[in-house]
Amino acid sequence: MRTHDRLRIAIQKSGRLSDPARDLLARAGLSFRESRDRLFCYGESLPIDLLLVRDDDIPGLIAEGACDLGVVGGNVLEEQACERLADGRGEAFRPIRELGFGRCRLSVAVPNDWEWTGPQRLAGLRIATSYPQLMARWLREQGVEATPVMLSGSVEIAPRLGKAEAICDIVSTGGTLMANQLKEVAVILESQALLVAPSQPFGDERAELAAMLLRRLDAVMSVRASKLVLFQAHRDQVAELVKLLPDAETPTVMAIEGQRDQVALQALCRSAMTWQRLEDMKRAGASGLLVLPVEQMLA
Ligand code: ATP
Ligand code: ZN
Repeated sequence: MRTHDRLRIAIQKSGRLSDPARDLLARAGLSFRESRDRLFCYGESLPIDLLLVRDDDIPGLIAEGACDLGVVGGNVLEEQACERLADGRGEAFRPIRELGFGRCRLSVAVPNDWEWTGPQRLAGLRIATSYPQLMARWLREQGVEATPVMLSGSVEIAPRLGKAEAICDIVSTGGTLMANQLKEVAVILESQALLVAPSQPFGDERAELAAMLLRRLDAVMSVRASKLVLFQAHRDQVAELVKLLPDAETPTVMAIEGQRDQVALQALCRSAMTWQRLEDMKRAGASGLLVLPVEQMLA
C-alpha cells in the first residue's frame, strides 16, 4: 500500500508529450532521481514522484488510484471518458488544466479526389480510426450511419489498402494526410495536453501538494506566454503604438538623454508577439524593437 504523503504523477514515457511534460515540471521546481528501469522517478526537491508509462494507460491509472495526477492528450482522455460512459463505469477522472502543448485535432479525412458535400457523404462507408468512441459520438450528432474500422496505428494508409473509404485520425500539420493523398474535411475535437486528476478530491496530504504544484504550474504557464517588449518612438506616436501591443500592461515611458521628442518604452505583453504585429508597430513609428522572454515573475 502506497503512502499518501507523496504525490505521484503519470507522464508519457517516450513520445510527443514526454519532453514538454518533463520540461514543465522542471520549470515548476521539480527534480527527480531516475530509477534503473526508468519507469519510476523519485522526487528529490519535493515529495512528488513520476511514473513513466504509455499515454493510453494514464487515465486508467488515475481511475484506479495508482497515480494522483497525469499529463495526457485531450484526445486520449475524451476517448476513454466516452468509453467509461458507454459501459456505465461512471466518471473517475477530469482535466484540471490545459497545458498549452501537444496541440492537434481529431479530424475526418477523405481521398483528395472526393467531392465533399458534407458528413452525409460518409453514409454507409467504412471509416478507419483509433478513436471509435469519439467518432461514433460525432457520427450520431451528424445523424450519419457508417461502419467503424478499428486500427491502432497507421490509420492514414487504410484507404490505400482498401480497408476503409475514409479515416478519422489525429492531425497537426496535415503533412501526413497530404503524403497519403487525403484531405481534412471535418474537425471532431481540438486537443492539447491536459493535467488530469481524479474526480474525487484527495482528502489527505496529497491535496496540499497538488494545490502547491498547481500554483507553480499556473505561474510557469503565465510567464511562458509573456514577453517584455522594448522600443523607442516619438512622443506623439505612443498612444497609437500602445494599442498595437498584445495584452500589454500599462507600459513604462522613459526619457532619452539629449532627445526631447523621442521616448523609450517598456511593456509586459501577456500573449505572443507575431512578426506581423512587429511590422505593424514599425510602420506606426516604433524603432529599435526588442522582444525578450520573461524568465521568472512574482507579482
Ligand atoms: P505511446 O507509446 O505512449 O502510446 P503514442 O504513439 O500513442 O505513444 P504519440 O505519437 O507520442 O503517442 O502522441 C502522444 C499525443 O501527442 C497524442 O495522443 C496527441 O495528444 C498529441 N499529438 C500532438 N500532435 C500530434 C500528431 N501530429 N500526431 C499524433 N499525436 C499528436
Ligand atoms: Zn498511445
